[in-house]
Amino acid sequence: MPSGNLFIVTAPSGAGKTSLVRELLQNDNQVKLSVSYTTRATRPGEVDGKDYHFVTEQKFLEMLERGDFLESALVYGNRYGTSQPWIENAMRSGTDILLEIDWQGAAQVRKIFPQATGIFILPPSLEALLARLTGRGQDSEEIIARRLAAAREDIGHVEEFDYVIINDVFETALQDLISVIRAQRLTASRQLSAHADMVAKMK
Ligand code: 5GP
Repeated sequence: MPSGNLFIVTAPSGAGKTSLVRELLQNDNQVKLSVSYTTRATRPGEVDGKDYHFVTEQKFLEMLERGDFLESALVYGNRYGTSQPWIENAMRSGTDILLEIDWQGAAQVRKIFPQATGIFILPPSLEALLARLTGRGQDSEEIIARRLAAAREDIGHVEEFDYVIINDVFETALQDLISVIRAQRLTASRQLSAHADMVAKMK
């Protein structure tokens, strides 16, 4: 079974990545989202096992020690990691996989899977980002200030990605994301291996 595409979606906090990915998944049942492990506290409305696997620092470190993570990173003081066994299984099934991870994780995954497609989502401006971070109303002022500073650091890594989507108008950004994923499924190497027999008959 040919392996599916591996997509990495990265964005500074507040750029709208989670909403875009959620909407994408509703439109596209060929792509599976990897649910990360994290030590951060649950936000209101978040569901364990769906948004994240929420674990203690001790459990996370045990998993890290065992080699359970494909990649892991410390982001805003909390640990995050992608499950290695989940990725292995999903890859074996041939499905497309999407990782919603930060730039540090993206760099680690790119080393293991250089064929992965990196997509970076940018806010239209820092002011818009600040407005979104404040509007979410779920984090303290100190956390927001820290996240804004971190966002600038995240954006410093935008050149490491294959595609850049600017999330100004949500619907446009969503269509951009859908287009990138469709285009990646249509590369000559993918199409020619998926339809080898059909193409051979036409030659
Ligand atoms: P949040 O806590 O706001 O959900 O996420 C904070 C940051 O951690 C985001 O940039 C998010 O993409 C990143 N993140 C979430 N899961 C993972 C993961 O498994 N690995 C890495 N490296 N970053 C992650």
